[in-house]
Amino acid sequence: ETKARNKGGCTAFESEMDARYLDRQKLKSDLREALNANGLSLSYQPMFTPDGSRIECCEALARWTHPERGPVPPNVFIQLAEEMGLVTHITRYVLRQACRDCTNWPSDMSVSVNLSVLDLRGDEIVSMVTEALKETGLDPARLHLEVTESCLMDEPAKVQGILSDLHERGITIAIDDFGTGYSSLSYLDTLPAGIIKIDRSFVRNIREDARRFKLLRGTVNLARALGLKTVVEGVETADQLQLINEFNCADLIQGFVFAAPMPASAIDALCKQGARKRTTKSSSQRIA
Ligand code: C2E
Ligand code: MG
Ligand code: MG
Ligand code: MG
Repeated sequence: ETKARNKGGCTAFESEMDARYLDRQKLKSDLREALNANGLSLSYQPMFTPDGSRIECCEALARWTHPERGPVPPNVFIQLAEEMGLVTHITRYVLRQACRDCTNWPSDMSVSVNLSVLDLRGDEIVSMVTEALKETGLDPARLHLEVTESCLMDEPAKVQGILSDLHERGITIAIDDFGTGYSSLSYLDTLPAGIIKIDRSFVRNIREDARRFKLLRGTVNLARALGLKTVVEGVETADQLQLINEFNCADLIQGFVFAAPMPASAIDALCKQGARKRTTKSSSQRIA
């Protein structure tokens, strides 16, 4: 009886492990299939000027809707793709589609694409980027590439070489989720980055946590002094927005308070609305 119970307990534990493992294996083979069948899509999240009047850039965010499970979070499937050695396929798709979509937007709007740490370890990334630009005819000045701090720590010399190469081609490098890793602004100053995106953990409690808010303001001021543009990520409430604007501590704002990620068609519609606003304004000025 004891033996059976032990065995039962053990089996329950093991089968849970098996289930989790099989789950990942199944998800991986489904992801492989989706990649072969062009089954991913993109959402775009705008970055606005702090007053919300203008979109300067849209971030491309990969989306995968599983036929049975529904949407799988990108944090999950990007990691699976990394483990399978397939993340660069995703990057290539996102680059092409994002550059193509951006050509439909006003010429003062850019598009931003996330890179995986594995993209920077391989040798294909520079040619992938230049091909996407050539294929779509997008001006390199309208392409931003986002890398996280952990990407930078990986193989510093190699990464620095790749980023410099991309920078020389006119592309803007943005450091994503800034403040969550171990890099300092002094290290950043040695990289050809033009933008830092301050992680949303610096925004969450700014009203309650005065010290956290000082960190946000101090980082923004230091970044500006170094000639970097700052994007504050994850601004969710009108109250956070007001506080950020009161202290003038963002060059651009990306967050649910202005817009969640949306399909390209919705971005196109927003652009048309903006264009209409501009036209109305200039025609009324003409009359006046
Ligand atoms: P990220 O690059 O930092 O992207 C921002 C994430 O924050 C997005 O989540 C976005 O939906 C979410 N977000 C934006 N505003 C707010 C807000 O106000 N509040 C909150 N709570 N969240 C907000 P998403 O789309 O789930 O992407 C998660 C992460 O997955 C991304 O973080 C990025 O690291 C990765 N990812 C997404 N697409 C790609 C891709 O094409 N390639 C690579 N390598 N990674 C990607
Ligand atoms: Mg990003
Ligand atoms: Mg981010
Ligand atoms: Mg993030």
